[in-house]
Amino acid sequence: MSCDKPLVDAFARRITYLRLSVTDRCDLRCSYCMPELMQFLPKREILSLEELHKLSLAMIARGITKIRLTGGEPLVRRDMIELVQALGRKLGDGLEELTLTTNGTQLAAHADVLARAGVKRVNISLDTLDREIFAKLTGRDRLNDVLEGIRAADEAGLAVKINAVALKGVNEGELPDLISWAHGRGADVTLIEVMPLGEIEEERSEHYLPLPAVRDRLEERWSLTDLPDNTGGPARYVRVAETGGRLGFITPLTNNFCASCNRIRVTATGQLYACLGGAEKVDLRAALRSDTPEEELERALNEAMMIKPERHHFAIAPGAAPTQPRHMSVTGG
Ligand code: SAM
Ligand code: SF4
Repeated sequence: MSCDKPLVDAFARRITYLRLSVTDRCDLRCSYCMPELMQFLPKREILSLEELHKLSLAMIARGITKIRLTGGEPLVRRDMIELVQALGRKLGDGLEELTLTTNGTQLAAHADVLARAGVKRVNISLDTLDREIFAKLTGRDRLNDVLEGIRAADEAGLAVKINAVALKGVNEGELPDLISWAHGRGADVTLIEVMPLGEIEEERSEHYLPLPAVRDRLEERWSLTDLPDNTGGPARYVRVAETGGRLGFITPLTNNFCASCNRIRVTATGQLYACLGGAEKVDLRAALRSDTPEEELERALNEAMMIKPERHHFAIAPGAAPTQPRHMSVTGG
């Protein structure tokens, strides 16, 4: 479907991808993401199901073709499935892809209904296959629930991609096994560098692991061939000859891919952040709740295009404050 009012930013980047956070809450406490006593937002501040739907439709009318639902943990929100079903009805009618990023703990109960609503792929975050390390890293002993969720996704016919944050002294020695395991079950894997977003209990820089070093170590054991695939996202992919699988690297710290950025993010309170690493935002909730929501949304989206920065400026160093005070779980990862 062509769009007569596409979202194009000041650097001529066409924005077609929305990451929509449906909640800031989560049933895990990954130590690099949020503190154990994370302060969640009062429910009244969160957009209603109707508002999330209306906002998504306005975005689709402006040329957004891909929506990824995220959070916090999207599946902890009770009416989340209704939103997926409502958005699923837009597939083929402006929307080309509807996906979600989940920690997988509650996927076993929902995989089937997600697939029936039109979801074809899910990203599942899993940093370790070791039950003790998982429990320590996430604060919850729920590795088995995640593995069941992955099995359910396979059975429902959902393509699975595993996302793993590479963490020095936590999972670095285990990454080859995690990759072999995922490739063995037909799943792509993407490794991610930890980003300085929001205060946590530990010193993030102690666990920061630059991915070029990880790649070098993997190349001592495997042959990696660069792939031309570019999904418009920040991941750069290789084929691992020995496993046959695809491996992605997201390197916000060591390498910047902002020039091809095609995305915007909206928090569960309707704040559109033009960049994950920036503070530039427009308030879509105020627009939605105004007397003239259509006009106000239109105006806010145009403003977002004007303020989207050229690139982020992440920096991670011992003792330094996070680049942004917002946690990834707030902006929507
Ligand atoms: N709860 C869901 C999950 O974990 O998949 C969705 C939201 S979570 C914020 C999305 C992704 O962000 C996860 O893959 C998680 O590992 C990653 N993440 C969270 N905090 C991060 C940080 N500070 N740096 C890099 N990745 C982070
Ligand atoms: Fe929750 Fe995802 Fe953050 Fe882990 S990374 S605490 S699962 S929001």
